Amino acid sequence: VSPESLAEPVHYFDAAHSDAFSEILKIESCLKRALARDEFYLLYQPILSLTTGQMTGVEALLRWRCSELGQVSPDRFIPLAEQSGLILPIGRWVREEVCRQLQAWCSEQPEWDIPVAVNVSPAELVQPTFSEELLNRLALAQVPEKLLRIEITEHSLVRDNEAVEQNLVRLKARSIDINIDDFGTGYSSLSYLRRVPVSSLKIDRSFIDGLPTSEDGATITRTIIEMAKALGMEQVAEGIEKKEQLTFLHGHHCTYGQGYLFSRPLPPDQIPALRSHPMVL
Ligand code: C2E
Ligand code: CA
Ligand code: CA
Ligand code: CA
Repeated sequence: VSPESLAEPVHYFDAAHSDAFSEILKIESCLKRALARDEFYLLYQPILSLTTGQMTGVEALLRWRCSELGQVSPDRFIPLAEQSGLILPIGRWVREEVCRQLQAWCSEQPEWDIPVAVNVSPAELVQPTFSEELLNRLALAQVPEKLLRIEITEHSLVRDNEAVEQNLVRLKARSIDINIDDFGTGYSSLSYLRRVPVSSLKIDRSFIDGLPTSEDGATITRTIIEMAKALGMEQVAEGIEKKEQLTFLHGHHCTYGQGYLFSRPLPPDQIPALRSHPMVL
């Protein structure tokens, strides 16, 4: 064995990796205490009808302000929460908070008709008690079931899992709409669309990004819109930042949109005022 090969093992543990690793451990240990320390909160991003410019719903997006690490992005901590199982109590907290918020909005404005979509991880959806817990929580808060929606990814549907399917069928039967998030980025076949009661497809931001100039983005977006329409599903384009993207989506009769062009995710107190102010499209 030459000295060179000894000096370069296959899994070389260099300083950069070691830093990344200890950072992950640090985030994980903080994440364990985040619920008890009350460090989570939710922002709500408007979803608009692209025909009327009216806000027709909002998506609840989780935020974590860690007392030790500062603000940590969900793209960093959600995967860790999923791996460690912490996503289960965190997800329950999200839905409890959303129910509390909906209850507040409904009592301020009895004609409240803006549903909240919550993101649900695969690890949550495989829990056989998921749908029952959610329905109980809504009942407890006296929130109409149609005011809650769930967003799931194709990853939840790749294996046809009995518990997942039962949860979805049960929720749909009780008028909780199911949206497929990040549609087009999963690697599953589309056969699940026949098994699972899906209300709308959210077209992933990566396809919207390059509109209208990216030929692939345009083709994929157009195809998803057409397919959703043919299957009787709504279409939500996410990550709309530019007027030209909106013009393209308009031209292809995409039903709903979401993105910085309309609004960033907002604290809950800023949502009610938006109800009466349609965007000029
Ligand atoms: P997502 O569900 O695909 O959420 C959309 C993300 O795009 C959000 O990032 C939102 O802030 C961002 N966004 C919205 N409009 C625009 C735009 O015009 N341009 C750009 N560049 N970005 C836009 P965020 O809030 O950082 O969340 C990231 C991901 O974390 C979410 O992606 C979702 O997968 C996950 N997540 C967030 N909250 C929860 C939660 O309560 N539970 C679970 N399981 N996952 C969550
Ligand atoms: Ca989402
Ligand atoms: Ca998405
Ligand atoms: Ca995403």
